[in-house]
Amino acid sequence: MSVLDSKIPEGSIEQKWTKYKSTCALVNPANKRNIEIIIVGSGLAGAAAASSLAELGYKVKVFCFQDSARRAHSIAAQGGINAAKNYQNDGDSIYRLFYDTIKGGDYRAREGNVYRLAEVSGNIIDQCVAQGVPFAREYGGLLSNRSFGGTQVQRTFYAAGQTGQQLLLGAYSALMRQVGMGSVQMFSRHEMLDVVNIDGKCRGIIARDLISGKLERHFGHAVLLCSGGYGNVFYLSTNAMGSNVTAAWKANKRGAFFGNPCYTQIHPTCIPVSGDHQSKLTLMSESLRNDGRIWVPKQKRRYT
Ligand SMILES: Cc1cc2nc3c(=O)[nH]c(=O)nc-3n(C[C@H](O)[C@H](O)[C@H](O)COP(=O)(O)OP(=O)(O)OC[C@H]3O[C@@H](n4cnc5c(N)ncnc54)[C@H](O)[C@@H]3O)c2cc1C
Repeated sequence: MSVLDSKIPEGSIEQKWTKYKSTCALVNPANKRNIEIIIVGSGLAGAAAASSLAELGYKVKVFCFQDSARRAHSIAAQGGINAAKNYQNDGDSIYRLFYDTIKGGDYRAREGNVYRLAEVSGNIIDQCVAQGVPFAREYGGLLSNRSFGGTQVQRTFYAAGQTGQQLLLGAYSALMRQVGMGSVQMFSRHEMLDVVNIDGKCRGIIARDLISGKLERHFGHAVLLCSGGYGNVFYLSTNAMGSNVTAAWKANKRGAFFGNPCYTQIHPTCIPVSGDHQSKLTLMSESLRNDGRIWVPKQKRRYT
């Protein structure tokens, strides 16, 4: 039987990643420019990884099927992003964010990785602010927080109801800065069709240029799949039709493990109205749909 090894470092939960970071092998600055990294996807994950790796000195190639990196589906996110900065002094801590996230994930998430996420959550906000993301602020100028997802503390950083759009604009400008400097090569309107394995390691991709139809081979010492969610495998979804798991599926066919495929977010805006007890958000989006102000693919309009 195959064993899914997520390679979480040894040690106590507070030390796993910190210890790993202080002891893992490093690449000499002079050698970084000889290492090529392929990133499939230019949403919040891909754009952030690409700009950070390029800033460190690696040679990066980014692929996305949209006409611009700016059109990744991250643009749709609304509510906000959680970080344990404890700005409200309401008792928040890294441990509380870790615990709430594990609980919110029905105790199924990998604890080591969730702890790391909680640990770096504050830095992520700082990075976004440095990239120019206009998070909501108090009248005094400090960053504002709201409570989100039923938590007992206010730790959500937000930009009105368009946090994803503002975050993506920030990540996009960091990415385009590196494109301008020549450290990132951007391949928009390119669809990854397959991954290339050499000696059991993923060392490249096959992609189609969606304008000319030409097939291309690209080499990378490492390949990052940042190809987003896959809500469209379900009948009801407000995700863009491209969020359809094709990239991860190809990697899976080449031997990569796929953990918890059932574990995906269903957004309340895609639940059809079935009674008076449904949240206003759903009803509001439903009335927008019926108005034709939110486009719903024909095959999904059964309930209108
Ligand atoms: C309506 C909505 C509201 C949300 N609200 C929140 C919220 O309040 N807070 C929160 O934390 N999260 C929220 N989320 C979730 C969050 O937005 C996503 O998890 C996150 O943005 C995903 O980012 P990503 O970079 O992984 O993927 P995406 O932004 O979807 O990017 C995927 C990228 O992969 C590329 N790609 C995919 N397949 C291929 C291929 N075969 N070849 C080439 N390129 C490919 C695409 O072109 C795209 O560039 C929300 C999501 C939605 C839809």
